[in-house]
Parts: sequence; structure tokens; C-alpha cells
Amino acid sequence: SIPLGYFGGIGAASRNGILFKGANFLDQVTQLDTVVMDKTGTLTEGVFEVQKVSTLCPDEQEFLSYVTAVESLSTHPVAQAVTAYAGKPEVQATQVQEVPGHGVKGLVNGREVLAGNGKLLRQFGVTYDTSIDAIPDTTVLVAIDGSYAGHLVIADKIKADATAAVKALRSLGIKRLVMLSGDKDSIVQKVAKELQLDEAYGGLLPQDKVAKVEELKAQQKKVAFVGDGINDAPVITLSDVGIAMGGLGSDAAIETADVVIQTDQPSKIATAISVGKKTKQVVW
Ligand code: ADP
Ligand code: MG
Repeated sequence: SIPLGYFGGIGAASRNGILFKGANFLDQVTQLDTVVMDKTGTLTEGVFEVQKVSTLCPDEQEFLSYVTAVESLSTHPVAQAVTAYAGKPEVQATQVQEVPGHGVKGLVNGREVLAGNGKLLRQFGVTYDTSIDAIPDTTVLVAIDGSYAGHLVIADKIKADATAAVKALRSLGIKRLVMLSGDKDSIVQKVAKELQLDEAYGGLLPQDKVAKVEELKAQQKKVAFVGDGINDAPVITLSDVGIAMGGLGSDAAIETADVVIQTDQPSKIATAISVGKKTKQVVW
């Protein structure tokens, strides 16, 4: 039977916008020594704004209509920025597919459109000016019918709450703070430095994130992973405590998580650990 104190703990957590999916996780969070976090949407706002559009097409509006046609069918934060900037697409895209960790692909007016990171274009054998890779912001590269057609520069912001989260986690004795991201490594390192994280890895595919968490699990006692995206569900399942950020979170992440944070505040990770610690004092 479950000791009564655990119900108190679950209630206290819920009043703080934290959903524990089982009493055992109240105990597990107290044993964490490593917290691994996703970047986009977890430590950063995940709300990108288009800063610049650059295209080889004579008509920028036409270029944008091809891009939004495919991006309007994607739920990725990057895609939402593009759609918010360019408005409703004038043309319909068909056969749109997400390429996890890369971008999207679809057909517009019978032409194949790719929109995503440099890796996506390389995967499809599209060459582009590699100076784009050095841009210190997220970029959406676009190819039409197998040729580079232009790119958008978009920017995201670190959440004000992320700094508080790092501080609170350190004071609770978390030894290792790690960030994993599919975004460009140059941006990932910039964010990690600003937040003073211990380690950060960029340019990761969903399966690379899984491998990294497996590696950390082998080295440490208890590992938590915190993420919000569709691509985060596998790592959430694999970690000792899988945490989904519910603010912008995808259904898949929320479903597989052990703990759900219903706001977009990463500092709630620390709150969850505190509640676990207090519950333990009551129970024992
Ligand atoms: P993360 O959330 O850590 O950035 P993801 O695996 O969700 O990782 O995405 C990795 C990268 O793939 C993004 O940073 C972006 O560059 C690119 N990407 C993913 N989906 C899209 C999309 N719909 N449109 C453009 N780029 C995308
Ligand atoms: Mg993400």
C-alpha cells in the first residue's frame, strides 16, 4: 500500500502545476544527480521570430509562399515562426512529411520543396553556400526541385526562468546539467555558456539524443530528461525520470512522461524535486 504522505506530495505538486504519474516518482526525483534538458521550447522560448529572408528567387513573396505551404503543416516551433511571419499560404502543399531532426518535405505546384537545416539539404544532395552554417542564429534552408532557393534567419530567446531553474537545481545538489539539441552546435554552445551548464551537445538527431542519455545512465545514478517535443518521447521513456514541459508540449511527450510540468517554466523541475524531498520527510 502507498503511504499517506505520498498523496500529500502528489497534491502539493499538483497545486504547483506539476503532475506526478505515480507515487514512486516522488521518491525517484530525490535520487537524481543528472538533469538533461532539451533546448528549444524547454530552456528557450521556442517562439522564433524571422529576422531575415534571403532568396535567389526573383519574387520573394513567391518564395515565401512555397515555404509556408510546407511549413504550415508542421507543428515544429521553427515552422510556426515561418508561418507567423509569412501568413496563410496561398498554395496548398501535398505529401508533406516531417523529417525528424531535419525539417519538412512536400510538394507545391508539382515541385519538391525542402525546408529545414543544413543536414536536410545535405541528405537530399543539395549543395549550398556553407557560409550559411556560420550564421549564429537558427536558419531554415530551402530547396526547390533539388536546388538551393534561399534561407530564413530566425531567432529564439532564452527563457528568463531558465536562469532561475539552473540556480535552483544546483542548490538542490544536482551535479550534472546537460543540454541536448537538434539545433546548430554554435547556437547550442552559446546558450549553454550563458546558462552556465556543465555540458551541451548540438546537431543531434532524435536517435543521438537516445544514445547520449543511455551513455549518461551508464555513468550516473539517476538521470532525468526534460523535453517538450515530438522527438523527445523516446528519451523521455528511456530516462529514469522522464519530464514533459506541458506549456507547449507535444501529446507524445506528455503521454510517455513520468512527470508533467503544466507550465512552460523549467524552474518547476526544481520544485518537483523539492516536493519529493519534503514528502520523504513526512513519509519516513
Ligand atoms: P531541437 O528541439 O532540440 O531543436 P529537433 O529535433 O526538434 O531539435 O529539431 C532539430 C532541428 O531541425 C531544428 O533546430 C531545425 O533546425 C530543424 N527543423 C526541425 N523541424 C523543422 C521544420 N519544420 N522546419 C524547419 N526546420 C526544422
Ligand atoms: Mg524540441
